[in-house]
This record gives sequence, C-alpha cells and structure tokens, in this order.
Amino acid sequence: MDTSEFRKRGKEMVDYVADYMEGIERRQVYPDVEPGYLRPLIPAAAPQEPETFEDIINDVEKIIMPGIASPACTELEMVMMDWLGKMLELPEAFLAGEAGEGGGVIQGSASEATLVALLAARTKVTRWLQAASPELSPAAIMEKLVAYSSDQAHSSVERAGLIGGVKLKTIPSDDKFAMRASALQEALDSDKAAGLIPFFVVATLGTTSCCSFDNLLEIGPICNKENMWLHIDAAYAGSAFICPEFRHLLNGVEFADSFNFNPHKWLLVNFDCSAMWVKNRTELTGAFKLDPLYLKHSHQDSGLITDYRHWQIPLGRRFRSLKMWFVFRMYGVKGLQAYIRKHVQLSHEFEALVRQDPCFEICAEVTLGLVCFRLKGSNKLNEALLERINSAKKIHLVPCHLRDKLVLRFAICSRTVESAHVQHAWKHIKELAAELMRAEKV
Ligand code: PLP
Repeated sequence: MDTSEFRKRGKEMVDYVADYMEGIERRQVYPDVEPGYLRPLIPAAAPQEPETFEDIINDVEKIIMPGIASPACTELEMVMMDWLGKMLELPEAFLAGEAGEGGGVIQGSASEATLVALLAARTKVTRWLQAASPELSPAAIMEKLVAYSSDQAHSSVERAGLIGGVKLKTIPSDDKFAMRASALQEALDSDKAAGLIPFFVVATLGTTSCCSFDNLLEIGPICNKENMWLHIDAAYAGSAFICPEFRHLLNGVEFADSFNFNPHKWLLVNFDCSAMWVKNRTELTGAFKLDPLYLKHSHQDSGLITDYRHWQIPLGRRFRSLKMWFVFRMYGVKGLQAYIRKHVQLSHEFEALVRQDPCFEICAEVTLGLVCFRLKGSNKLNEALLERINSAKKIHLVPCHLRDKLVLRFAICSRTVESAHVQHAWKHIKELAAELMRAEKV
C-alpha cells in the first residue's frame, strides 16, 4: 500500500468506526456464535498472492463482527498462528488445528515468551519431582534448578532467570558464536555431579550481536534425553524461515517444547506481535491456571475454546491477530518472502563493499540482514569511527563485542530500503573512516 492509498484507507477506517459508534444501539451486547465458528469461514492457510484491502474489510464485517466481543479475537488468533506456523513449516505438533495438543499465542515480546516458557518449565519439573519425592518442598527444588543459554543469548534470557528465581548459566559458544553439544553436555555433567537440577535450555536462532545460530540438531537431542524444556528464541531471524532457502536454519525445531519469534521485527506486522508456539499447551495452561468466579463462562472446561488468559501473564489482551490477518493477506506469502529476500540481498551487497576495502574486515558470517564489520585495528579506532558515524546522524549503527573485538553492526531494517541507501551509507562510512585515519596520523 502506497502513502496515497494509506491516506484514503485511513480515512475510510475513521468512517467505519464512526458508523459503528452511531449504530451501536442496534447491536447485541453478546454474540450468537458457537465455539469454533470462525475457522471454517476462512482458508486453512495464508494466500500466496496479495489480496485487496476491500476483500479484507468486507470479511471483517462478515466474519469478525458477528463474533465481537471476544470469540472473534481468540479464534482469529488461533487460526493466524496456524497460518504463520504453516508458513514456517513448523512441525504439525506445534499447530492447534481442530484437535491438536499444541498451538500458538501472541505475546507482547520475545522477553515475555522466554519468561512464560521458563515459568512453565519450572512448574513442570517441580510437579514431576514432587510426585516422585513428596517430601521435597518447592523452595528446596527451586534452589537447585539450573537453566542454560549460550554466552551470545539476549539479555532477556538472563532476566527471565532473575524473574523466575532460578540460576541461569551461560555456555561458551564456539568460533562461529554457536552453542554446541559438547559445551552444553560438559556443563550439565558438572552441574548434575554438584547436585543441581538442569531443567531449561534457551537456544537462540539469530543472536542479537551477530545473527549466529545455536546448533539445534546437536542441542535438541540432549534436551530431550535429559528431560529439559527446550525453548527457541528466534526473535529476529524467525521471519526469514518463511523462505524455503532459509528454512534449514530452523531444522531441529522438532526437539523443542516452545518456539518464538517477533513478526513485529521483520515480517511487517506492527509492534507488538511476538509469536509463540508450544507443543503441549496444557504445560502452559497448567502452570498459570486460576479460575475465579468473575472469569467463569459457559464453555468453561468444555475443551471447545482456547482461554488465552492461561497462556500468558496478563489477563486482558488486545486483538493483535487482526494485524496479522491484514498483513498476510495484503502481501501474500510471496510478497513477504520477496521482502525478506530483498533485505538479505542488500546485506550481502553491503558485505561485498566491505570485503572490497582492505582497511575493513567482516567479523561474522552474513546469513540474513545483519553485517558485522570493523576497521582493521584497535577497538579505540572503531569506537572513534562509531562516534563519528552516530554523531553525523545520517545513519545509525549499534555496536557489539564479539569476544574482545568491538564490532559495528549494519542492519537492513527499513521497509523502504533500496540499494541506493546501502551504497550511500557505505560511501558515508568510508568518508568518515578516511577523515578519522587522517586525524589519527596527525
Ligand atoms: N531475543 C533476541 C535474539 C533479540 O534480538 C531480542 C531483541 O533484539 C530479544 C530477544 C528481545 O526482544 P523483545 O524486545 O521482543 O523482548
């Protein structure tokens, strides 16, 4: 949608809402629909080709409005999470379908998804240990629980450990910044020998610093063998898995208990929209379920409806799946794939420019839309370059440390980015680097 269509549609939406407000007295306060009403009304998968805004808004009136307030919100979310899961070719076990044991939920952020997974895993292991040894108190168990992630995991994983009140240990990553089986196994063996209880592992696909990938095919079987909950954090990279050529990066997801990525990062869905799937939804709902009288409803425990309040920390929730429905239909799967491919191609264009210049080096493999690079030389030199780049305010770079090196990160992330922007950015970086080197020589 270009800006002129956006203006037109935006104004039409204001009219739609105003008409709704004017006609509100003619509407029922409670819908007539039965549980499961929505799924048969829409296709089982996202369209490959784009559809028009008119088609979608007509469907809002026909399909969504009869299920307002609430059933439509829940049921569209279940179906959209299945659509997205199918786009990623997630194993069937993660999909809700009509009678599946898994399913997806939209959380607000990847941090929340990791925390929710950790808390569910904590409850699961605690109940299991108490069933085997009733004399153990939850506090005695908590004291011994250990979770693991690589030294490249996002800080939100450490925070989940802090909030969840369990130890979190970092596993040293290999020379490609990936968590590998041997390092994980070594930590598990030594912790078990010390009487601790390993229970939760977070594997990252697409780390924040350099977009590296933990080795799921190695880590997954260990987690399954050791009865540890495996959560996958693919906050940024997950969007790319809708392209068949990047799907292999998700191989091993079949070993996971939960998987999460942020369509709001790279799949054109506005903030916030963090997609989380679990293989066994009762492990989540069992951990968070409380049923006070004021939240009881006629389909309680019928198994016919999904009560998303048991899948998350807040009670109330927004109608976030509408955003997914609009975006998936307006772009079509092919349009979304083209968007990802363009970003990846532009990051390789930038990588090639850096590689051609003997003063610079590439610091990590470029897989998706992130290029880690630096001037050959000291960290101080690179800090000075970063300072010049960010104070010029034409482009903005966020740095990271890879081992002991300060590295600059060039991220392709704007919806409207073109090759000309990449070329312009590189010219600008080179000019500032040349100025810096001249100043350093004086
Ligand atoms: N995990 C990874 C790998 C990330 O890159 C990020 C953010 O950049 C996060 C988690 C945190 O995401 P959120 O802001 O959705 O909590």
